[in-house]
Amino acid sequence: MTQLPINILLVDDERDFVEVLSLRLVDAGHWVKTAFSGQEALSVLADTKGDQLPEIDVIVLDIKMPGMDGIETLKQIKAKYPVIEVILLTGHGAADTAIKGLKSGAFDYLLKPADFDELTTKLEAARKQRDAQEARIRQAEAHALMRRSGGMLTHD
Ligand SMILES: [Mg+2]
Repeated sequence: MTQLPINILLVDDERDFVEVLSLRLVDAGHWVKTAFSGQEALSVLADTKGDQLPEIDVIVLDIKMPGMDGIETLKQIKAKYPVIEVILLTGHGAADTAIKGLKSGAFDYLLKPADFDELTTKLEAARKQRDAQEARIRQAEAHALMRRSGGMLTHD
């Protein structure tokens, strides 16, 4: 089965975890960018808007980080880049935080230590959701453009 590569931003304050998981994802054919804090994640995303890097499809985001935590980072990401999907990494016993994250716009969450197959499945689902949402936005933009430019094909 051929998989399309996913552009992933991996955000976690545990450097070993980030490095190991990043290598596994790259081995699986994905493109991975890493950040070790919420603040760094936001600046990586700002860079991708400058065409220096491919656009991010999905962010894997640790909830428990010093400084700006995952929930605050998630809120800022969704406010600026609503189409990018976010999968949260939560510790055991952190169900309340996971719920808060889902209500703040996270696509899904995963309990640490993250199971690689489960992560892969969720990454695929998140990327599909992102692609579908982007397609809907393009279609709406095309309709709006048609309406503005004379509206021969519209009923209103
Ligand atoms: Mg952490």
